Amino acid sequence: MSIVVTGGAGFIGSNFINEWVKISDEPVINLDKLTYSGNLNNLILPPDNKKHIFVKGDIQDYKIVSDLLTKYHPRAILNFAAESHVDRSIHRPEEFINTNILGTFNLLEVAKKFWLELAAEEKKKFRFLHISTDEVYGSLETDEKPFSEKNQYKPNSPYSASKASSDHLVRAYYHTYGFPTLITICSNNYGPYQFPEKLIPLMINNALSKKKLPIYGDGKQIRDWIYVTDHCSAIRSVLFNGVIGDSYNISGNNEKTNLEIVGFICDLLDKIKPLNSQKSANLSYKSLLSFVADRPGHDRRYAINDNKIQSKLGWSPTESFENGMTKTVNWYINNLNRVKNINNV
Ligand code: NAD
Repeated sequence: MSIVVTGGAGFIGSNFINEWVKISDEPVINLDKLTYSGNLNNLILPPDNKKHIFVKGDIQDYKIVSDLLTKYHPRAILNFAAESHVDRSIHRPEEFINTNILGTFNLLEVAKKFWLELAAEEKKKFRFLHISTDEVYGSLETDEKPFSEKNQYKPNSPYSASKASSDHLVRAYYHTYGFPTLITICSNNYGPYQFPEKLIPLMINNALSKKKLPIYGDGKQIRDWIYVTDHCSAIRSVLFNGVIGDSYNISGNNEKTNLEIVGFICDLLDKIKPLNSQKSANLSYKSLLSFVADRPGHDRRYAINDNKIQSKLGWSPTESFENGMTKTVNWYINNLNRVKNINNV
């Protein structure tokens, strides 16, 4: 038996595979196009690795996906592959439509055909797990309750609209064909191996290079943050025990404004790597904060109610925000050169 992970060279997919090869004997086939955000150096594999097989390819490519399923005969497909950065989706939405919607459609089509031809026992065990985002629910006011799985989808950016579309397709394949799908809907992730365009690695790297720390608008946009390996353990929990056709919200239960996040990073760096210059001792990294024009259509608040996964599957996050952020900041400090190389690509 094996599993297929798409987008396994990206931030969350690589963290998922790095853990999977440690805890499971099942080989993982990693299908990734290696876009700007995919990096095979994210994968930390044992030297005698036989459990990770990399296939370079696009989830939109019918033949590549079909050949891969025939060759490796997986018992599950986990679809992480996506264009994932909201700002890029505002400037160039096409790739988001192609990968997130048409790519997911292609995977569903090929996987359904493969599943229909399986023997009865294998067919019963097969799963298609699609990884989605809380951004599909839209934006919350400060006094509104966190999103539950029952909330209506109200995506506001081309990114979230493309993810919402793919979720709808996945749901439709379950309802129309009985295809065994699962959907996970997670809040903002942080941790090692994230591409340095996203808030937390961008701020750490800018601070370490003594560059400005750009804050959109008033910086009071609220996100619900989860440490990446907690997201990965939730995905495993849904893969092993989720009810087919269902969606599961995943949260770190950690609502913070962007300004609080950046302030936290500055405070940590002030302790770990003080910004002393000859001119001004005890200068804080907060002196680098710089407010810039807000992102168009910027969602104000995301918050996730994860009661369902906690009560039905017994999953809960284990990493505290303080510890997760300390590990993350230290990881970026120790991998500065790696990030510089990425920036030069
Ligand atoms: P990422 O941008 O770091 O990684 C995406 C990976 O997908 C890259 O390795 C890239 O090469 C690959 N890829 C892109 N297009 C492809 C294609 N057409 N065919 C094959 N591979 C392709 O993204 P991430 O942050 O790791 O996000 C992974 C998934 O989790 C996405 O579906 C995203 O929507 C979802 N998600 C992310 C977050 C977050 O905070 N980062 C939160 C919730 C959900």
